[in-house]
Amino acid sequence: KKETPPPIDDLERGLLAGERSALARAITLIESNAEDHFQAAQELLHRVLPHANQSIRIGITGVPGAGKSTFIESFGSFLCDEIGAKVAVLAVDPSSKLSGGSILGDKTRMEQLARNPHAFIRPSPTSGKLGGVHRKTRETMILCEAAGFDVIIVETVGVGQSEVIVRDMVDFFMLLVLTGAGDELQGMKKGIMELADTVIVNKADGENKYAAQKTRAEYEKILHFLQPATKGWPSKAYVCSSLYEEGIKEVWQVIQQFIVNTQASGVFEQRRREQAKEWLYSMITDQLHYRFFGSPIVKEMLPKIENDVIAGNRTVTSVVEELFRRYTKE
Ligand code: GDP
Repeated sequence: KKETPPPIDDLERGLLAGERSALARAITLIESNAEDHFQAAQELLHRVLPHANQSIRIGITGVPGAGKSTFIESFGSFLCDEIGAKVAVLAVDPSSKLSGGSILGDKTRMEQLARNPHAFIRPSPTSGKLGGVHRKTRETMILCEAAGFDVIIVETVGVGQSEVIVRDMVDFFMLLVLTGAGDELQGMKKGIMELADTVIVNKADGENKYAAQKTRAEYEKILHFLQPATKGWPSKAYVCSSLYEEGIKEVWQVIQQFIVNTQASGVFEQRRREQAKEWLYSMITDQLHYRFFGSPIVKEMLPKIENDVIAGNRTVTSVVEELFRRYTKE
C-alpha cells in the first residue's frame, strides 16, 4: 500500500500553533505502521521536541468501574475551566492488543470533557509492528506538549503490566479505588500501591461517605508501611466524589504540592532523566526484537531449530549461539 504521508511542514506549523486538527493528524501519523509514515513521524517529532517537556504528566489507574473516566471528566473539566489549563487525556489499554476489544475505548466516555475547547481526548492506540503502545503513547505525549497542553493525563486499567508502563512515563501516579475494599485490599497487589503517589477513594458520596473515610484510613495505614513511590514524598490517601465533583480541587492541590516538593529536591528532574533513559533502552529492545525475528535467516532457521530442541537433538544454548552467528553475518 502506498499512502503519501501528510506534509511535515504543515503539521509542524499547525501543531506549534496548537491546532487540534493538526495534533490529531500528527498522532495518526505516529500510530501508523506504514514504513514511510514512520520516517515522516520521526522527522516531525525531531522538529517539535524542543517545544515538549513542559507539561505535568499524571497517570491514573484503577480497576474497571472504579470511576476513572468519571474522575477524569470532573478533574479535567476543573483544570480547564477553573485553572485555565489545556488538558490532554491519553489511554493505555492492555486489552486492545490482546482481544482487539477495548476496556477504555468502546463506550462513549468523557462526553462533557470531550466537548471542552481546552481538552483533547485520544483513545488507546492499537499495537503495531514497530514498537508498541508504549512508544506511541510516549510520542503522542510529546506532540500534545508541543501543541501547548499543560496537563497530560494517561489512563490505564490496573490489570497487569500496563500500570508499570504508565508509571514510567508520568511524573505523578494515582490509584483510584472503591470503598468497602476490605477483601479487595487483601487481594490487591501490593505492587500497584507501591507505584502510587496517592490513593484516591472514589464515590465518597451519599450513604457511602462514612465507609469511604474508613477505607481511606485503611489504605493510609498500608501506605505508611510501604516504600514511597517517589523519594521524599510519603504517599497519602484521600476521598473524593467524581460524580458530585467533591474533593477534586483537593487532588489538584496534592499534585501541586508534589510538584513543588519534588522540583525543589531535584527528584522531579531526576525521574524525567531516568524515564528518558528507560525509554531509550526499551526502544532498543523493541528494535532488536523486531529486526531479529523479522530477518529472513532467522525466519528460515527457526522452525527446524525449534524441532531439534523439542526432539532433544540439540541444546538450546548451541542453537541460539548458531542463530546469532548466522544473523550477525547476514
Ligand atoms: P471506569 O471503568 O473506572 O472508567 O469507571 P466509570 O467512570 O465508568 O464509572 C463506573 C460507574 O461508577 C459509573 O456508573 C459511574 O457513574 C459511577 N461513578 C463514578 N464515579 C462515581 C462517584 O464519585 N460517585 C458515585 N456514586 N458513582 C460514581
